[in-house]
Amino acid sequence: MCDAIEYHPVSKRDFLKLCLLGIGGCMMGAGRLSALASTTALPSLATSGSDLWKWSKEASYWEKSGTGLRCTKCPNECVLGTGDTGLCRNRVNHEGKMYTIAYGNPCAVHVDPIEKKPFFHFLPSTRAFSIAAAGCNFRCLNCQNWEISQVSPHETVNDDLMPADVVEECVRTRSESIAYTYSEPTTFFEYAYDTAKLARTRGIRNVWKSNGYIQEAPLRDLCKVIDAANIDLKSFDESTYNRLSGGSLAPVLRTLKIMKEQGVWLEITCLLIPGWTDDPDTIKRMCEWLVANGLADCPVHFTRFMPLYKLTQLPLTSVATLENARAAALKAGVRYPYIGNLPGHEAEHTYCHTCGKMIIERRGFAILENHIQGGTCAFCKARVPGVWRA
Ligand code: SF4
Repeated sequence: MCDAIEYHPVSKRDFLKLCLLGIGGCMMGAGRLSALASTTALPSLATSGSDLWKWSKEASYWEKSGTGLRCTKCPNECVLGTGDTGLCRNRVNHEGKMYTIAYGNPCAVHVDPIEKKPFFHFLPSTRAFSIAAAGCNFRCLNCQNWEISQVSPHETVNDDLMPADVVEECVRTRSESIAYTYSEPTTFFEYAYDTAKLARTRGIRNVWKSNGYIQEAPLRDLCKVIDAANIDLKSFDESTYNRLSGGSLAPVLRTLKIMKEQGVWLEITCLLIPGWTDDPDTIKRMCEWLVANGLADCPVHFTRFMPLYKLTQLPLTSVATLENARAAALKAGVRYPYIGNLPGHEAEHTYCHTCGKMIIERRGFAILENHIQGGTCAFCKARVPGVWRA
């Protein structure tokens, strides 16, 4: 399944063995929550042992607010009193300063095919060294990685991997990119940002798999250090967005527009959940919005829902629903719509938008044939949008 992870606590030694074997994993996020009311008191930095200090760093993007601190990293805008932890469970008010407690302590580390995030137009067939720290700013009912997204870094088994270590492991495992993924990377922003900045100095690309729920200032800084992003567009209806994830649609649409404007390669994932996000008219409106906002070349992955977490009573998405969504996208002018989580379906291949020939043949995360040469279709020479090998 796309960016779902098998969370198995591993020792660092075992983890390194897994990397050598090339075993990987992938994830999803959760909307507008009552920030102050939902903040959680977790063990404080001062009383929980020195390791917490080791994996803490003064956070970026916060300001004083009355007697507390307001986090300005994501639209939840949590206000934290002394000792409080944010909704994402990894930002803490300690003695009048905000700290992240997700710095250098990833709970998931894998080497994945880039296709698993999914990225279909970004360096196909390459490896992405993938990391996540616990926590998320959403509460998705369908979360496929809830075991690490809905807990704090205190509650997961973590590795000890500072930014320089991540970069070294990326090089050693011959991965061409570092993926910030599985949980919500906005909530371990400082760790991801410092790692990405360092990776850039070694010629390593950075890819962001996210719910896109981030404020404008950190987003604009982020765009300076990442190369590609896959953003979950969970619905095109505000009420559904809030009921499903606790978040809201408008900030996610803003993220898409800013990333496009800033030159980040963008792909979108739309999970079609029966009865929640599979309404044909809503899908049509979403596709029309994408095209009207200059995102026609942005691949859209319509992904099959698997019954999980709090929505186990629902059926799988029907193949007809996925095919109808893809057809609606094509009709609206989206040039590269895909069907995901359905290996073997013809819509997991890439077809040249100009001549219609199959230019990348896939099976799951594997590339069977690639007819893109120098960024163009080998048959008709039309440019294919994406980031390709020279
Ligand atoms: S990043 Fe975390 S602490 Fe900050 S506003 Fe979002 S949920 Fe709250």
